[in-house]
Amino acid sequence: MSLRFARFLSTTPTLRANYGFIGLGQMGQHMARHIYAKMEPSDKLYVFDTVPEATASFVDTVTQQKPEAKSQLHTLDAIPKFVTDVDAQLDFIVSMVPEGKHVKGVVSELVDAYKKNPQTGSTTFLDSSTIDIPTSVEVHQMVKKELPEFDFIDTPVSGGVAGARKGTLSFMLSREDHKDVAPDLVKLLNMMGTNIFPCGKNHGAGLAAKLSNNYLLAVTNLAVADSFQLAKSFGLNLQHYAKLVSVSTGKSWASVDNCPIPGVYPENNLPADVGYKGGFITKLTKKDLVLATDCANQYDRALFLGPTARKWYLKACEREDLGSRDLGVLYEWLGELEEKNGEYVDKKTSESFKV
Ligand code: NAD
Repeated sequence: MSLRFARFLSTTPTLRANYGFIGLGQMGQHMARHIYAKMEPSDKLYVFDTVPEATASFVDTVTQQKPEAKSQLHTLDAIPKFVTDVDAQLDFIVSMVPEGKHVKGVVSELVDAYKKNPQTGSTTFLDSSTIDIPTSVEVHQMVKKELPEFDFIDTPVSGGVAGARKGTLSFMLSREDHKDVAPDLVKLLNMMGTNIFPCGKNHGAGLAAKLSNNYLLAVTNLAVADSFQLAKSFGLNLQHYAKLVSVSTGKSWASVDNCPIPGVYPENNLPADVGYKGGFITKLTKKDLVLATDCANQYDRALFLGPTARKWYLKACEREDLGSRDLGVLYEWLGELEEKNGEYVDKKTSESFKV
């Protein structure tokens, strides 16, 4: 019986675990920090980022918070060292890197290293990055072909940097049901987040859920911006209108939890109250919308609102001040546009364009 299968059958997680984490950026540094903070005294955590300063800053932060676990944390300076420079074979290696090409590169290096240094147990690679489904499927097939005992699971997240910081992320993964998620995996995901959503049995189901949801977010956010600009041109009191929407059929995350009208929920310190700084930036919304619409094409699914929304987000992101601020800023931007004979004029830049 393989180690992985034995663990899968077991109802309690193994007592000792070795974790690897790759990509200590805005999201990854917090996810890895929660693993470090919650790991058992017998566990170990190995981390790597291509930017040495990211690793150094991570080590500084976490060892100040929990100095007693310092000896359980190890930094590595190259991917193959997750195989060659560890005390024992790692149970899980999580990647949280920008794009599909980075995931493919990281996992290919790991697979090569494991092939050169054969092990008796199995390692599960978890990829929490938001990437395109075909690349993730290709990486999964490569892992299964080269190292049949190993697994590669797409475990994308929602909750943003705030959720990563608080440890309240939701994980979406390609498993049919909760009973199909191994106890060790549940334990690891619960260290970093609070919700686990099995999305389907085929590899890529987690990403499919992530992209479908973020497609909905991108389109809804644009509709919310449009609706609030319409209400403004009708001369409505926008703060009162926003409160009405919050208990009406137009209610959504974009219209309420991330309301783009300043001053409606001052107690929540929303991006709209601080000039749309922070939050989930427009560039990342555009990235996910582009991934969703590209994947829809690859899966022969015609999207009705996607192509238009995509053009608006691509256009918005040409302006750095819009791309680098919270997606609620699209409300402000739409108010800066004037329509003349089918062309739009951006009053701030004087540029005219068609969508
Ligand atoms: P980021 O750019 O802040 O961090 C990525 C980190 O990966 C960087 O530190 C970079 O140096 C490192 N890296 C890049 N290539 C690497 C490699 N080959 N090996 C090791 N490290 C490497 O990005 P982020 O905001 O943390 O996002 C990471 C992923 O999570 C992206 O796919 C993003 O779409 C997704 N995501 C982000 C958010 C968010 O709100 N920021 C929310 C959900 C999902």
